[in-house]
Amino acid sequence: MQNRLPTPIPTSPGLTSKTNPADPRPDRLSGGPNVQVAPAARSEGSPYLVDPDRLDQVVGADEPPYRSNQLQEWLYRHPVLHAREMTNLPGGLRRALSHRLWPFEVEEHQSADRGATHKWLFRTGDGAAIESVVMGYRTRTTLCVSSQAGCALACTFCATGQFGFERHLQAGEIVAQVAYANAFLREHPLRSSPPRVTNVVFMGMGEPLANYPRVRSAIGLMIGEMGMSARSLTVSTVGVVPGIRRLADDPWPVNLAVSLHAADDELRSLLVPLNRRYPLSEIEAAASYFFEKKGRRVSLEWTMIRGVNDHRSQADRLAVIARRLRAHVNLIALNPTPLSSDMPSTPQAIGRFAAALRHGGVNVTVRSTRGTEIDAACGQLRVRSSRGS
Ligand code: SAH
Repeated sequence: MQNRLPTPIPTSPGLTSKTNPADPRPDRLSGGPNVQVAPAARSEGSPYLVDPDRLDQVVGADEPPYRSNQLQEWLYRHPVLHAREMTNLPGGLRRALSHRLWPFEVEEHQSADRGATHKWLFRTGDGAAIESVVMGYRTRTTLCVSSQAGCALACTFCATGQFGFERHLQAGEIVAQVAYANAFLREHPLRSSPPRVTNVVFMGMGEPLANYPRVRSAIGLMIGEMGMSARSLTVSTVGVVPGIRRLADDPWPVNLAVSLHAADDELRSLLVPLNRRYPLSEIEAAASYFFEKKGRRVSLEWTMIRGVNDHRSQADRLAVIARRLRAHVNLIALNPTPLSSDMPSTPQAIGRFAAALRHGGVNVTVRSTRGTEIDAACGQLRVRSSRGS
C-alpha cells in the first residue's frame, strides 16, 4: 500500500525574507521607546538551530526570560507541527515562527505497513536532503534518523553511499527529525504503538561517527531536552574506530551497532571501502572497548546479499567474532539499490545463516524489512526523488 499524505507544514521554513509580513520587528519596535531590539541579534532561522540556552535570541531580548522556557518546552517536550499551536506564546512571536519553525520542509511523506511506517524526505533551505523513517511496534516507536546528507563512505550496496556526500547535518537538524516525528504522531497517532518516539536509531543517511561532534550534541539534546533515555538510542557505524572509542568514553549508556556485513578483511574491503583504513581486528578491539566501558552489548548488523556474504563460511567466522564480543547479530535482507545488481539472499539462505549462527552459540534476530514498498531502505527515497520518478 502506498498512501501519500498531504504535506503537513508550510513550505520554505527558514527562508523568511525581510519583507515577510510575519516578521515581528515592526510590532516590537512600535512597542514604545523602551523597546530596543537590535535586529542583528535576533535569530532569523529555525529555533531548532539555536542552542536551547540561547532561545532569548529567538524570542527577543525584550521578552521576559520565561518566554524562552516556554518556547523550549514546545520545541523539545511537546513539539507541534505549526507555531500557531504554541498557545501560550504571544501572537507576534507565533507569526514570526510560522514559516521557520522547522529547519527543513517536507518534500515527500509516505506511509506503509498499514500506517505503522512513515517516511519523510525533508529538504533544507540550502537544498540538502534528509530522510527519516518512523516504525511503530507494539511496545516501541522507533525513529531512524539521518546524521549526514549523503555519505562519503561508499559502501557498495548502500543507496546513500552510491550518491556521495552532501554535507554534515547540524545537531539541530538531527534533533528536529525527532521533534517533527513527535509533532506528527501527536496529530496522527499510530494505531497500536506508543504515541511518541521511544527509540532513535542513527541508521538513516550518513555515518554518525564521521559527524561525531554534532551527533554528540544531538544525543545530549535528546536526553537533556527531550527527556529520552540514553538506553533507547542506538548509534550505528560502519566502523569508524576512533569514533567508537570516543562514544565509549562519553558518559551516556547509548547502544552501539556495528555494520559488519563480512567477517574477513578481503570480502569486507570490497563491500565497505573504509575497511582498508580500519580493518576488522581494529573494529573488534574498539567494539570490545565499548562493551567494557559501557557494559552494553554491541549488536552486529549484517545485510544479507545473495551469493556474496550469505555462505556458511561467513556465518562460521561471524560466529567467532560475535562470541568473542558477546554481541547480538541482526540479519537483514538487502534492499536492492539502483546502482548495484546485488540481490537479497533468499529466505532459505537467511534461515540457514541464522541457524548456523545459533548453532555457534550466537543470539540472532532476522529483522523484517519495513516499508519496502515505499523505498524505506537507506537513502532510497532521496534517490528516487533526485531521479525525478
Ligand atoms: N553509516 C551507518 C548508519 C547508516 S546505514 C552504518 O553503516 O551503520 C544503516 C544500516 O543500513 C547499516 O547497517 C547498513 O549496512 C544498512 N544498509 C545500508 N544499505 C542497505 C541496503 N541496501 N539494504 C539493507 N540494509 C542496508
